[in-house]
Amino acid sequence: MKILVINSGSSSIKFKLYDMQNKIAICKGLIEQIGSKNSHAKLTVLKTGENFERSGEIENHGAGIDIMNELLFVSHTLKSLDEIDGVGHRVVQGADLFDDAVLIDEKVMKTIEELIPLAPLHNPAHLAGMKETLKVRPDIPNVAVFDTVFHQTMPKSSYMYPLPLEFYEKYKIRRYGAHGTSHNFVARQGAKILGIDFDKFSCITLHLGSGASVAAIKDGKCIDTSMGLTPLEGLMMGTRCGNIDPAIVPFLMKNANLSGEEIDTIMNKKSGLLAISGTNDMREIEAKMDAGDENAKLAFDMFVLRIKKYIGAYIAILGEINAIIFTAGIGENDARIREAVCSGLEIFGIRMDKNKNSVPLGEPRWVGLPETKVRIIIVPTDEELAIAEDTVRVIENLNGVPLK
Ligand code: ADP
Repeated sequence: MKILVINSGSSSIKFKLYDMQNKIAICKGLIEQIGSKNSHAKLTVLKTGENFERSGEIENHGAGIDIMNELLFVSHTLKSLDEIDGVGHRVVQGADLFDDAVLIDEKVMKTIEELIPLAPLHNPAHLAGMKETLKVRPDIPNVAVFDTVFHQTMPKSSYMYPLPLEFYEKYKIRRYGAHGTSHNFVARQGAKILGIDFDKFSCITLHLGSGASVAAIKDGKCIDTSMGLTPLEGLMMGTRCGNIDPAIVPFLMKNANLSGEEIDTIMNKKSGLLAISGTNDMREIEAKMDAGDENAKLAFDMFVLRIKKYIGAYIAILGEINAIIFTAGIGENDARIREAVCSGLEIFGIRMDKNKNSVPLGEPRWVGLPETKVRIIIVPTDEELAIAEDTVRVIENLNGVPLK
């Protein structure tokens, strides 16, 4: 059984082909700078590391999907599109209109289109990807897997903003969260590692990549998360500011003569670790810090402090937890950040085995001291595999029989 996972962005298409019997990725690819003269497409066969590339203008997403198919054939990863049992599409924003992954049809695409105001960069790009794959082979089931679904179990008290109710009623302004596919995937892996049924598993998941978010999970259900209406809320990130006093926006408009749009760009692309230290790469920040750079140390400390504040807040609303789970680029690879985040949390029953923590990640594993109640677990996230699994589940439910 083969599942193709597509993450279609405004000027790019990322794809990965899975053999779902063995849960392994066969190949992955990236088509970049769609619509420019510098378009580039690359497919890597994961078993051999062999690359297949194409350069030259790729006009639009339709041409991108054609090149993806061509690369799948020339790399001999597929002989025919008939071998694909389903296509899973990542969708950033499903708002409160989707509480599970769904088979894509005209009605689903229309709803995703209606949600464009909430994800103006992402949802149009996802729709382009869906339309083009369906145009090539309308008979292959395509499934939409939403980043927001896992957070749909948040109670109203978590997802509402203390703003006039009409903003929620008229504009759907509320907290939706993001990275849900990753939080769900790593939490399930964590429960498996500890041998606890997921519906009895409570934890805090820390997705720390260039975008970063936290989720509070009680008995297998998300009850709060740090990202909000957009992925700007919450933690300090690579280039995003996370939580700030909202009054800073009108202050800057008035005193720095910046437009709302300019401030939005600054908060998303020129803030966070980058603004404080000059780089958004945590490896560089730590190297600079070791060389005595004070701003790098400040960025590191601010990043850690903000994570700790969320852990404290989430323990307060969760009560007892089984685990704290680290994932994504920083969470999986950076022992120093993990140690700094967990230090001082002993009062909550969180105690790290520093030796285990410093071993580079191979398999998912726990690095807490054995006698402590709360396990500290590191799990490599795999959002594409999670999308492929959801795609299989939706198709099987539809057919009423397992895929072969
Ligand atoms: P995204 O998918 O959101 O782009 P990733 O989850 O791949 O991000 O994380 C990217 C970030 O992870 C990089 O910006 C870098 O700061 C950090 N990172 C990757 N490897 C390491 C490492 N070995 N040590 C510290 N940070 C790392």
